Amino acid sequence: MNLFDVNEVQPIPPDGQMDLFGFIQKENVPEVKMPSPDCSANGLVHFKYSPLMKKSIRCKGGVLFGHPEVLLPAYMKAPEFANARELAAEWAEHAIRRKTQKNKAIVKDLVNRFWQTVDQIFTDKGETPLASKGRLPPIRPRGVHHNLTDVLAAINDTYFGGTLTCRITWSNRVGGLSFHSIRKDPVTGENFHLISISRGYDAANCPLYAVAGVVYHECLHIVIPVEVHDGRRVVHGREFRQRERRYIYYDEWIKWHKEVLPRNIRAMRHHKDI
Ligand SMILES: [Zn+2]
Repeated sequence: MNLFDVNEVQPIPPDGQMDLFGFIQKENVPEVKMPSPDCSANGLVHFKYSPLMKKSIRCKGGVLFGHPEVLLPAYMKAPEFANARELAAEWAEHAIRRKTQKNKAIVKDLVNRFWQTVDQIFTDKGETPLASKGRLPPIRPRGVHHNLTDVLAAINDTYFGGTLTCRITWSNRVGGLSFHSIRKDPVTGENFHLISISRGYDAANCPLYAVAGVVYHECLHIVIPVEVHDGRRVVHGREFRQRERRYIYYDEWIKWHKEVLPRNIRAMRHHKDI
């Protein structure tokens, strides 16, 4: 037997559309070295843990050659909080410095990003985030009936050759619309596209083709820029409508969107299950 034989035969790419819902996302788990819960990645900021703390963090300066020590709630010792701990270390390095206008702004931004990251970690684990007044809501792609990550992967693969780099979430507004926005990643500080889908689509009566239709529509907003005609912003221009119609279940989706979605949104407003 030839050792260089590749046993895994790549499936022949289908002609696209019919495969839309058969798409299986590859498990892509990179090997990462477990970061130490005792200090920051650069080894300069030490972490201590308190079982009594929950929604606060503290720091004191001058522990190791002028670097701070951070006191964190005990649950943050878990490996999934590594990114949050890094932000806490960065926060502490600034918090112990002189309170200039500029430094105060940095400290505020880091605190915000820290708690936003913590909220996201809780959400990813399927747990309720801490009370997040004034903070951006975490990203929740997993609904009761549909997982938006899978739907986005299928649409991205089928219609955009897998080139879109965006994230997706169920909208946090009850009865809200679906929309596209730009957000800042709290961990990296980089901007990314975020698609928010109306919760009216996360319903037992919502077929996959309908969720996929609205996800496709929002993806088009990422690739087709807003046109300006006579000083007027045209969001759904000719090119947009043409490309939108390329969706294989376009007619079925529009019908569902017009007939069923408003009913679902009304039901949600009355706190009924949909
Ligand atoms: Zn639109």
